[in-house]
Amino acid sequence: MDAAEFRRRGKEMVDYMANYLANIEQRPVYPDVKPGYLRSLIPTEAPLEPENYEDVIKDVERVIMPGVTHWHSPYFYAYFPTASSYPAMLADMLCGAIGGMGFTWASNPVITELEIVMLDWLGKMLKLPEHFIAGTHGQGGGVIQSTASEATLMSVLAARCKAIQQVQASNPGQSEAEILPKLVAYTSEQAHSSVERASLIGGVLMKKVPTDDNYAVGGGMFKKMLEEDKAAGLIPFYLCATLGTTPSCGFDHITELGPICNKENMWMHIDAAYAGSAFICPEFRPLLNGVEFADSFNFNPHKWLLTNFDCSTMCYNHSSLLQNWQIPHGRRFRSLKLWFVFRMYGIQGLQAHIRKQVALAKEFESLVRADKRFEICAEVIMGLVCFRLKGSNQLTELLLKRITESREIHLVPCHLSGRFVLRFAICARTTDSRHIQQKEAVHSDAKNEVPKLRFFNINMSSHSLPMVSQ
Ligand code: PLP
Repeated sequence: MDAAEFRRRGKEMVDYMANYLANIEQRPVYPDVKPGYLRSLIPTEAPLEPENYEDVIKDVERVIMPGVTHWHSPYFYAYFPTASSYPAMLADMLCGAIGGMGFTWASNPVITELEIVMLDWLGKMLKLPEHFIAGTHGQGGGVIQSTASEATLMSVLAARCKAIQQVQASNPGQSEAEILPKLVAYTSEQAHSSVERASLIGGVLMKKVPTDDNYAVGGGMFKKMLEEDKAAGLIPFYLCATLGTTPSCGFDHITELGPICNKENMWMHIDAAYAGSAFICPEFRPLLNGVEFADSFNFNPHKWLLTNFDCSTMCYNHSSLLQNWQIPHGRRFRSLKLWFVFRMYGIQGLQAHIRKQVALAKEFESLVRADKRFEICAEVIMGLVCFRLKGSNQLTELLLKRITESREIHLVPCHLSGRFVLRFAICARTTDSRHIQQKEAVHSDAKNEVPKLRFFNINMSSHSLPMVSQ
């Protein structure tokens, strides 16, 4: 492909992308394929001779699209959102063209410099304490990781290093091998699986702290565990608190946990992968109170701040604590996406996006509450609604099976206090009230009085599924 063809094909590709996104709701949100579907559709080996572009692009609809889960469909309500916006996509295209790596300042000065400034912009948008901002002389600052999982791992490694140095400072004879088995990290029993994985990779013991009725970790239980562990000769060194847990969007009480960590000289990392973006809105910012006690804070603009994957922002209160800022050597020019998005939406545009999605979640919550067969299972604070059919877990499991088979909308479940719960997360940028209300129509077959489940248009009257009385 030469430059002239690239110009032509590039314009066609932008048209294809724009059409795909404009018409996405006409595609079933969830693919109708079985594992291994793709192998039979493509050759077993790469072509020896070059193929032409037409043949490749034809295969996008034949081979690729049948296996796509359309995360940007307004009927996608699973997991948490993965962000998408046109400015971010355009910036990604430019990033691809610039191409180069940013492993040191000299390797690509703009990659380092824009990243530092964008993280400062972001820190100021979130009203982070001054010590998280690099500025021109600051001690803090941020770095863009590819995922929250990587950010958590970096924090575990940095905390481990600091803890070992501290123990050795007061006990110079102790070797790293003697200290490591005594180190203990903590996180919520509701924390994302990536937190436990970080401890496994980091080679440290991690304990799960039980949560309260709101699925949040409070100071009392945490302190009790610390006391017991210290009495047993262990060295508590790290806490990963979560703001916006994956199952239910619960918020650990960092105003209680932070002072305990500071007193015990423990590293507090905050994982706000999803909810962090909402702190740009003054009404949600109080949930971040306590961040002043943290050593590191991370969230994913690639979840909720209209910045396409990958862009996970990590802020440190004291960058000198770090020996390394990230795992990979090579790094993409990810801050370009933030620069485009911040400028083209403005803080107000980004706030409007968050507020709209939270309002949609509240709207869905009120639909659920209006139907006596259902119950809400956790307080709805942001864009996630956890709900279930009253009665046995089996009932809700069956409902989810039908929803998944219908491929009209896509949801995933979680377990809360032993209950099987459906998570309804407002995800796509284009989800509107009509997408939620459309699924709400009350159905009743006049002849047979067959009630249908209000929200999902799914017949729940068949013999296999008992109805919950209204
Ligand atoms: N932490 C929380 C609270 C999450 O909800 C998630 C994913 O949803 C993660 C971490 C993992 O994020 P990532 O895919 O960026 O590693």
